[in-house]
Amino acid sequence: MRNVIVQDRNAEQIAGSGSALRAPQPRGRKGFDYLIVGAGFAGSVLAERLAAGLGKRVLVVDRRPHIGGNAYDYHDEAGILIHRYGPHIFHTNSKRIVDYLSRFTEWRPYEHRVLAEVDGQQLPIPINMTTLNRLYDLDLKTEEEAAAFLASRAEKVEDIRTSEDVVINQIGRELYEKFFRGYTRKQWGLDPSQLDKMVTSRVPTRTNEDDRYFTDTFQQMPLHGYTRMFEKMLDHPNIKVMINTDYREIRDEVQYEHLVYCGPIDEYFDYRFGKLPYRSLQFEHKSLDQEQFQAVGVVNYPSEEVPYTRISEYKHLTGQVHQKTSVTYEYPAAEGDPYYPIPRPENAELYKRYQQLADKTPNVTFLGRLGTYKYYNMDQVVGQALALYKRIEEAAEQGQAEQPMARQAT
Ligand code: FAD
Ligand code: UDP
Repeated sequence: MRNVIVQDRNAEQIAGSGSALRAPQPRGRKGFDYLIVGAGFAGSVLAERLAAGLGKRVLVVDRRPHIGGNAYDYHDEAGILIHRYGPHIFHTNSKRIVDYLSRFTEWRPYEHRVLAEVDGQQLPIPINMTTLNRLYDLDLKTEEEAAAFLASRAEKVEDIRTSEDVVINQIGRELYEKFFRGYTRKQWGLDPSQLDKMVTSRVPTRTNEDDRYFTDTFQQMPLHGYTRMFEKMLDHPNIKVMINTDYREIRDEVQYEHLVYCGPIDEYFDYRFGKLPYRSLQFEHKSLDQEQFQAVGVVNYPSEEVPYTRISEYKHLTGQVHQKTSVTYEYPAAEGDPYYPIPRPENAELYKRYQQLADKTPNVTFLGRLGTYKYYNMDQVVGQALALYKRIEEAAEQGQAEQPMARQAT
């Protein structure tokens, strides 16, 4: 039998999932107020708020051997802080979200820069004036000149619906094919014409020389990493954490009033209406006997000749000084852990059916990227969890039963 870690304030290790049931409870109250499935951003933020804000007793379970969900980081054998599930760069425009997370971490300024390898050169992506000058051997000097160049290439699309439409309309077919088509086909296993426009709209086009990947007002990394931040968030006497524990293993063993489910919503309902498509990735982590591998944190490889989509080198993100370096190659995959909900109309329809079923399921709330089938960044998931907490808190203040208003997080 696998070891199950019940992480309370002393992080004691106990074998056997039944042990959580013997965890000391306040006198006169049995079980937990909340069972939260998933110790990622969604589950951990909500657990912290319920415990610290409302004095609720919370059990968090995760089937992975660690907390932090996809944002989990750790020191590899070489001693480099790496992200197990690919590079996670924190950026947001929300002061409220920064203020909240700042209770659990200090920060390190980091502006993410990405290069895309196209026609044998590594060029800035998002496409900007420098990209155009270097790719076409031009000498564009002003924003107006760059805008005019792009306008001369753009192909007007009347009804912009897909990830192909949005790019072609902005920059034309040639640049689309060089920078977007291959990457997207590899990443999603679909042609951009089959994906909602929101996917490639995440990457803007610039006419200036700004080569940052994001323009958010706050761009910083947790100073000691994400996992340390999660440890602090979950370090509360009312919170118990069980890792290596699937919800199905304990659902009949644990007493609780409400369930918050941050895993895939279709899995919760035993795929009643069929599987919701998620895209997966295989990560190949390597540590190298050299101080630096590439010029920036992430280099993208849009060519379909190359099997991976990008290589990330963590020292750029973390600022760690070390004689060695560690990198991760990402290979998109159809099978494996569900990482990306796939934004396209038929999937949104299928999700709606699960959502309607969820609305009719008492005492269960779905939350997070997998629970609400949303292509959310970390800050958006934190915002979603804080919004759910606010509704629970308001209902508690009004003395209402806490569940009905919170069955579907938005
Ligand atoms: P998750 O982190 O997926 O947590 C859900 C947890 O639930 C998992 O740990 C899972 O093990 C657990 N679980 C599921 N089912 C069960 C079950 N039955 N029993 C027990 N446990 C269960 N966002 C950014 O803002 N910036 C980035 O740079 C960025 N980069 C990314 C790169 C990659 C490769 C990926 C995949 C995502 C990236 N994201 C990024 C998005 C970010 O990972 C998510 O927004 C965030 O982690 C979602 O948090 P969550 O809690 O909703 O889900
Ligand atoms: N994309 C692309 N080429 C790139 C970068 C991104 O075609 O060089 C497309 C691709 O479809 C990708 C999407 O834009 O999935 C969103 O990019 P982002 O970097 O936001 O992806 P994520 O970090 O979520 O994997």
